[in-house]
Amino acid sequence: MLIGLTGQIGAGKSTAAKILAQFGAAIVDADMIGRQVVEHSPTLLRKLVKRFGKGILSPTGRLNRKALAKIAFASPRSTRALNALVHPYLLRELYRQVKLHSKRRKAVIIDAALLLNWRLDREVDPTIVITAPLAIRIKRMSARGLSRAEVIARQKSQPTVAELRSRADFVISNSGTSAELRQKLTKLWRILQKSDC
Ligand code: ATP
Repeated sequence: MLIGLTGQIGAGKSTAAKILAQFGAAIVDADMIGRQVVEHSPTLLRKLVKRFGKGILSPTGRLNRKALAKIAFASPRSTRALNALVHPYLLRELYRQVKLHSKRRKAVIIDAALLLNWRLDREVDPTIVITAPLAIRIKRMSARGLSRAEVIARQKSQPTVAELRSRADFVISNSGTSAELRQKLTKLWRILQKSDC
């Protein structure tokens, strides 16, 4: 079973993915893959420097992710440029990991904020959408060092909650505690096991 897990910034996708991993699912984390491809592909790094300038590099010539994020998320245009450069590399690696895990595991979960943008909702069995109100997401992300403005800027390149809901097979509200989230996912997991999508 291939499961899509998506939602807006700070909704709790990765937290949900960690819980589902404890139930036995393999996780393919698009954020993590994005970070890895940028760090491990010299060709991609060269393309990023060409587009965003040497200011995205540390003094030792490695990628300064914070500096890149600051420049790339400053406007929708530069976010689109970043995505156009990174996503082909990211998606290639994502498909590779899905294929690899699918050979060995009964359930594989793709954790991706841009699942719908990549039309992966058409390739997964169920799509699970995690939701939480903007105010809660801002509070959660502020603990991670992101400002309100940064959260709002980043969510502009993501599907709206209405779009997410319209494509979801299951919507899990994560506005309560982590324990509540776990309870909801436990119930959902039972349903998925029975339906064996
Ligand atoms: P991103 O879009 O940045 O990848 P995400 O949707 O994967 O975010 P998480 O990383 O799972 O979201 O959660 C964002 C932050 O909120 C994390 O620090 C996480 O620990 C916290 N968090 C998630 N769910 C809850 C909850 N129910 N109660 C309290 N904190 C939570």
